Amino acid sequence: MAQEKKPGDFGGEASSDESRGVESRAGEFPDQDRYSRQVLFPGIGADGQRKLASARIAIVGCGATGSALAGLLARAGVGTLRIIDRDYVEPSNLQRQSLFDEKDAAESLPKAIAAARQIAAFNSQIVVEPRVDDLVPANIEALLEGMQLILDGTDNFETRYLINDYAVDRSLPWIYSAAVGSYAVTLNVLPGETACMACIFPDSPRGMVETCETSGILNSAVNLVASVAATEALKLLVGNRAQLRRTLFSFDVWSNEHAEISAAKPRPDCRACGDRDFVHLAGEGRPHITLCGRNSVQIHERQRPIDFVEIDRRLQPHGIVRRNDFVLKFWHDPYEMTLFPDGRAIIKGTTDTAVARSLYARYVGS
Ligand SMILES: [Zn+2]
Repeated sequence: MAQEKKPGDFGGEASSDESRGVESRAGEFPDQDRYSRQVLFPGIGADGQRKLASARIAIVGCGATGSALAGLLARAGVGTLRIIDRDYVEPSNLQRQSLFDEKDAAESLPKAIAAARQIAAFNSQIVVEPRVDDLVPANIEALLEGMQLILDGTDNFETRYLINDYAVDRSLPWIYSAAVGSYAVTLNVLPGETACMACIFPDSPRGMVETCETSGILNSAVNLVASVAATEALKLLVGNRAQLRRTLFSFDVWSNEHAEISAAKPRPDCRACGDRDFVHLAGEGRPHITLCGRNSVQIHERQRPIDFVEIDRRLQPHGIVRRNDFVLKFWHDPYEMTLFPDGRAIIKGTTDTAVARSLYARYVGS
């Protein structure tokens, strides 16, 4: 789109809204204009941009890393993004979770819904499929079906092992990403070619594992790992497998220490890619109630669709109730229960699963 330079324009990319026309902003300007700076980059080009437009990827977990990944890849023009997240937006997220704002936190919007709304505001030409759900063995097929790449925005090893099992079983590439404190780490898993996550970490770390709740987190560590992983995703989606990194890459943005460990070859005795023993996918012994960080417990009920109007009426005498189309929150001092329409609940204020179960049974049903 040719534009005349006007007083106050600083040249370069700057363009004023009045020259473009406010009405034409929503999805009406041509793709070649939107993506022109990326198409100029030889690694992408017009052909690569077309491949991105037809790409279908899943981002599991839309907290800090998931937000950054989704933001980058949505702006880059990945055609379909499926965003899967079980949680809702809180004020403490805003320091690093770049797709959310204060209004989302005030409304306790599910992160997947808030992310889809935010992305639609800056790129209405792609498809975002929000899924407010916890990825578990029972639903992984339905949630990840038809995707060509899985990106890790989760905060726990249990879900990562599940993704790894599924990806290795289906020969589907996935990219592990994690950040805590000032430390970031990422690995490309190309089943049949490179090491998988279980090759490198046969068991999840034992004992005290650092989390964002105990060690804090720098938003810059998040953005670093998301930038590296999103770039690897672009290479993969445009078909440039030769350029993909085949190492476990880690970087500490505070100390500037960094390391790369080779992940070029699978480990022959690996449980997942060697023996094809997919214990996490089988979901053996998986509990229906789990701790989920920051002094809270999650109850994974699935067969209990909740009528928000009815339950609102029932809970009113017992505490404060607020709801929207996506979540219902109930405060009953010292607990805060968040209910989702499928019956899943997150109970804050306790790490005792028995207490959480009893609250759920008393106010929702046993
Ligand atoms: Zn392996």
